[in-house]
This record gives sequence, structure tokens and C-alpha cells, in this order.
Amino acid sequence: HTIKIAIDGPAAAGKSTVAKLVAQELSYIYIDTGAMYRAITLKALAHSIPLDNEAQLTQLLEQTVIKLKQAKEGQQVFLDGEDVTLQIRSQQVTNHVSYIAKLPKIRQEMVNRQQSFAKQGGVVMDGRDIGTYVLPNAEVKIFLVASVDERAKRRFKENRRKGIPSDLEEIKNEIRKRDQIDSSRKVSPLVKAEDAIEIDTTNQSIKQVAELILEEAYH
Ligand code: C5P
Repeated sequence: HTIKIAIDGPAAAGKSTVAKLVAQELSYIYIDTGAMYRAITLKALAHSIPLDNEAQLTQLLEQTVIKLKQAKEGQQVFLDGEDVTLQIRSQQVTNHVSYIAKLPKIRQEMVNRQQSFAKQGGVVMDGRDIGTYVLPNAEVKIFLVASVDERAKRRFKENRRKGIPSDLEEIKNEIRKRDQIDSSRKVSPLVKAEDAIEIDTTNQSIKQVAELILEEAYH
């Protein structure tokens, strides 16, 4: 007996770290849907396609293979066969992804692909619209939140650990901007599903949050 677990929330709220832990614990597959929007953004930027040209971007996506592979280190992302796991985390992609993700036809195609990935069995999926649109029947729905300050601080520390130079104020601005675009778009905006459990992670460790979610899953 397997279930589906949807984890949504704003940028840098700890979704992927928590989702990875929960998936590992349950031996489920983990799907980071943000990586798919990031992958098409990387390709669109490389092809210099204007980020508001919905027709051209949709056509590009239809000709694009995005593969998510489960690895020990986490999820690996392949764009038309090329490993782009690191590239899709660049500041350039991060700053542009929400403009592509707000286009209705892009979302429709992504949701279709995500739903077919989820047919494989037990799954933990993280994103912005998983509990509301992608997996509305998920048995467990979680909405993770944390203050902007806390989220920016975590991202800053993560960058430092990886040796990536960054600026705390810039991160705060980028997070605010992305949340604003993601929450105000017309199609499947970032919003808590009515039946989702909201967890504020500001003062909780990743492990504590993962345990809370696992309790819900075993329920
Ligand atoms: O989760 P992550 O921060 O990597 O997502 C990058 C961007 O992709 C988000 O800011 C959002 O614009 C978009 N996204 C989305 N729907 C999802 C997952 C991500 O619109 N389910």
C-alpha cells in the first residue's frame, strides 16, 4: 500500500530537503517539480527565446525531454540527455524561472508530465501547486512556510557551504520577487490547499519537520 505526499510552499522554505528525507525513509520516489520549470528556463535562455512568448516556449517544451533520475545524492536532472543538475540552480535561471512558470500552456504540459510520473507508485512531490492541481487526491498534503529572513539566511548559508558567493539582501529580494510572481499568477498560483497541513519551519529543524510528515504518512 503506497500513498502520495504533496509538499508545497514558497521559495526556499526547505521543501526539497524535507521531501528527500521523507522519500528516503519510505523508499518512495522523490520528484522536485521546480527542477522541470528550471530546466525549460535554462533551455529558453540558451535559445534566446523571449520569456513572454508563450507559443514559442510551449513549442520548445513539446520538443524537450526532461528526465528526473533518482540518485544517492538526490535527484539528477537531464535536459535532452544532458546532465543539468547544477546548471539549473544558477542565479540566472532562478531569476527568470517564475516568468516562464506563469504561462498557462507551459503549466498544463508540466502538470501532465508530473501526473504521469506519479503513476509509478509511492511518491513525494514538491512544488507550488501539487496539493491543489497536480495531485489533488494526495493522501498527505503539506504546506511549508518560514519567514523571508529565515529562508534567505538558510540559502545564504547553503551557498557559503558550497563556496558560491552571495549577498543576503539580494537573496531576500529574489525570494520576495519570486513569491510575488508565483502567488499572483492566474493559473494554479502558489496557495495552500484547503486540506493541507501548514507547518512553519522557521524554528524547526529539517529532521523535526520530516518526522511530523512521516507521522501523517503512517496515520
Ligand atoms: O522549487 P523551486 O524554487 O526550484 O522552483 C522554481 C520556480 O519554479 C518557482 O519559483 C516557480 O516559479 C516554479 N514552480 C512552479 N510550480 C511548481 C514548482 C515550481 O510554478 N510546482
